[in-house]
Amino acid sequence: MDKYRKRRAQLVAAEMVEKLKEKGYETYYAEDVEEARQIALSLIPEGASVGVGGSETLNAMNLIEELRNGPYHFFDRYQKLPFSEIEEIYRQALNADVFVSSCNAVTRDGRLVNMDSSGNRVAAISYGPRKVILAVGANKVVNNLDEAMDRIYHIAPLNAMRVKHKAPCVETGKCEGCQIHASVCNSIGIINHGHKTVGRFHIIMIAEEVGF
Ligand code: SF4
Repeated sequence: MDKYRKRRAQLVAAEMVEKLKEKGYETYYAEDVEEARQIALSLIPEGASVGVGGSETLNAMNLIEELRNGPYHFFDRYQKLPFSEIEEIYRQALNADVFVSSCNAVTRDGRLVNMDSSGNRVAAISYGPRKVILAVGANKVVNNLDEAMDRIYHIAPLNAMRVKHKAPCVETGKCEGCQIHASVCNSIGIINHGHKTVGRFHIIMIAEEVGF
């Protein structure tokens, strides 16, 4: 990232740390993905059960290996197993002590917006795990819900490619508005604010462009 984009990312991340705090979330500023990983790990107690949402940001943070090899009970959704068994891991993660994910978009007024294929990440962020840690690159910040949906449908073809779904956008590079089994756009979740569940949401704003 060039120095101007980095500076913009720093400004956006710092702004959102303050704005999201006002919306009832615990917030943290991370200069880069390494610092974000350290903050995330500091928030996960030894012995905790941990689930994760599918996320390029968590991969960039090298967090999955830490969870796999650390003193946690990790519900590892990345094992090479039949999808029926992966779905069982998704269900176990709904009752994990801690759920770690990113967000597809965060609005400047504090709404956390996510789109899922199976709905497991949307569900776990909404309810279940007692602690939710969200690592969010500055590139995920948008002005409002309309921009959030624009962003999500703009990046969804990349997610469809990543998870190798046979959706039409994989061939065209843009949303074709499909409603098929292979769609990665089946569930939309919006968290409006954190005031109902003070202490549950921990949002790490990363001063980098990271993740889709
Ligand atoms: S709705 Fe279908 S075509 Fe559009 S981005 Fe999602 S998976 Fe791709």
